[in-house]
Order: sequence, then structure tokens, then C-alpha cells
Amino acid sequence: MNYRILALISLASLPVLAQNSPGPAAPPPKPREIVVDGITGFQDTPMEPDGQWHVHDPARLQPPVVAPGGSFSQMAPPPSDAVILFDGHDLSAWRDKRTGGPAPWTIEGGAMVSAKDDIVTTNEFGDLQLHLEFLEPTPATGSGQGRGNSGVFLMGHYEVQVLDCYQNPTYADGTTGAVYAQHPPLANACRPPGEWQTYDLIFTVPHFDAAGKLMVPGFVTVILNGVVVQNHQAIRGDTTYRSVGNYSYHNPTGPLALQFHKNAVAFRNVWVRPVPLVDEP
Ligand code: MG
Repeated sequence: MNYRILALISLASLPVLAQNSPGPAAPPPKPREIVVDGITGFQDTPMEPDGQWHVHDPARLQPPVVAPGGSFSQMAPPPSDAVILFDGHDLSAWRDKRTGGPAPWTIEGGAMVSAKDDIVTTNEFGDLQLHLEFLEPTPATGSGQGRGNSGVFLMGHYEVQVLDCYQNPTYADGTTGAVYAQHPPLANACRPPGEWQTYDLIFTVPHFDAAGKLMVPGFVTVILNGVVVQNHQAIRGDTTYRSVGNYSYHNPTGPLALQFHKNAVAFRNVWVRPVPLVDEP
């Protein structure tokens, strides 16, 4: 076969090759925001493992509203072995999550107010008991996820949602007290904006084997204003917008983080007790 014939055959086969060769993969379609009964969310996101609801499904049952009683743990004095993360004076226990520099939040009237970036603790923790208090801004502005959004990130990975959900419906798995994108709270126990609210959390870390495979998930119990909203709830992995949770290996300790989500949310009286690991049945 001479080169001219070879060249002709090659040319003739070009359209076929072009037809069969895979082109650049088309990007998956962007999920489309929809509104169901006044609640904005998605129904083209992945299904939760329960097979019933999409992530951020606006049709997912709303948590029942429970009015909190009394002041519960407001201004709870920290126990003697607590690590103080914020006592109204300075942000020395925190740093900027993105830059690693000083925490960019402000201190106003003994509270630290979210601004500019997420913040993380300089210390790392494993199993823990956490107390904090938060105050949603007044007057309430925005709606759904846009009203008073912040969050408590356990180990920097697993968000327990902070949002102003007082008369502000949003998708159930994004309500205050939700394990974000996974587990709605058992109740909506929000106080009105402008009133201090309390979170008391107990968290046990996920365990991985030597190869990095998940052996035991993380669990979280959350009490919001004296109302249990997560009861030893298994966490499915990283709490990511529009995604089902997946675990990826990380160290047995990690920092706590607080979210800046473009809203000024105030925090006070933040302390944590590292909890000893109980290794018995
Ligand atoms: Mg949040």
C-alpha cells in the first residue's frame, strides 16, 4: 500500500472517527430551584438514602413547631474542665478558616458577630459536649436560607444548621437544628429573632479503619432551646449543598467552625468539654 492510498483511506475514515470519538463530557444540568407551597428548594437533586426525598426537597415534611419554655441554658456557666471558646472578650480561640489569619468577626456588646469568612478554632477536638448561644438579626430580612444563616461545623465537616426559622419556612433539611442536607430537626424550636437561643450538642466522631474506610459514622445529639432536635443521629458524611453526604477520611480530631453565610449572626458563651471515649458495650 503506497502512502497516497493510505492517506485516502485515512481521510475517508475521518468522519467515522469523529462520530465515534467521545467529545468533551457535557456538564450535568444545574439543579433548578422550584417553589412548593411557598418553600424554595429542589427536586432534581440526588435522592436521600431513604428513597423518599430529594436533597433540599421543598415538599419534605416540615418539622413541627415547638415553642421553647423558659430560658433553658442561657448564660450557662461553663464547668471547670470546659475549654472556653468565647467569653465575650476576644477571638483568640479562633482564626480565619480561609486565610489562617486572625478571625475577622467583630465583637459587639460581648457577642461575636459573623463577618467576612468562616472561623475555626485553634484547638482541635474529638468527642465533645458543646454549648453556644446565638442571636438572629432584627429586623429579619431575607427569606428561606437567606435569613440569618450561619452554622456549627463539627470537625470542620458536619454542619448543624443555624438559621432564623421563626416563621420562616425553608426546606426541611436546612431548618435550624438540621444536620444540613441530611436530617431535618425533630422540631422547629426557634425563638424569634432578637432573642438569644441556646445550642447544647453532644457529638461523637466518625471512625475509619487503617485503609480510610468508614467503620462507625459520627453521631450528634442536639438540644435547641431545651428541645431535642437531633437524637443520637448518625451523620452520613460531609454536609454539602445539594449533595447527599459522603465521608472522606480525616483525623480523629478536628476544629470546630462557625459559618459566615452573608448574614450577621451573633454568638456568645461558647464553650466545649472534650468527652472521654467510652470503649465498653
Ligand atoms: Mg448554614
